[in-house]
Amino acid sequence: MRKILCLLVLLGLAVPVAAADNSPVVMNVKTYIYHQPSCHWAERCTKNCVKTTKQEAQAKGARACKVCGG
Ligand SMILES: [Zn+2]
Repeated sequence: MRKILCLLVLLGLAVPVAAADNSPVVMNVKTYIYHQPSCHWAERCTKNCVKTTKQEAQAKGARACKVCGG
């Protein structure tokens, strides 16, 4: 019984973290690549970039930048 409770607690903690990554990213709406705000490419991209969250960007089909990892 204790073991099951322990497992439930672990699952409860792990799932929300994986499902909702609300860390801020900068997404290029032309190339559909998202960057960390501190990324060199995010700083250079002003016209086609919007600030969003990693979760939103992935939901829109964007992929992570190879330089900063998104
Ligand atoms: Zn980047």
